[in-house]
Amino acid sequence: MEFSVQTSRQRELADITEQVASAVAKSGVAEGICLAYVPHATAGIIINEFEPNIEADFLELFGKLFPSGNWRHNKIDDNAEAHLKSGFVGPGATVPVEGGRLLLGTWQRIILCEFDGPRKRMVVVKVVGK
Ligand code: ZN
Repeated sequence: MEFSVQTSRQRELADITEQVASAVAKSGVAEGICLAYVPHATAGIIINEFEPNIEADFLELFGKLFPSGNWRHNKIDDNAEAHLKSGFVGPGATVPVEGGRLLLGTWQRIILCEFDGPRKRMVVVKVVGK
């Protein structure tokens, strides 16, 4: 299944755990694997704690690693840093499913990373198992 997320800033993190958990529940899978994936070249998915300070810290780190600048791709559409961040983070995350639920740690959330928003982003969820 899939769902969309409307981001509201150029760069932001969005907690999508509940939407992914809902997809797992609908799948009927009790034991297996859940993939959450974004089919986008300037967004990504991480699993981590989600709260405003860690969001700000991640965005600051990404900015330090991939600062705006004279990247070659900027000659095409001026969003090279967003592509580089997306490639660094990766487009998806895999979580074990146990007892019909995502096996996340107490502080783990599934987080969509927006690097070139605001945009409407698609999240694809595949749940396999039995
Ligand atoms: Zn581009």
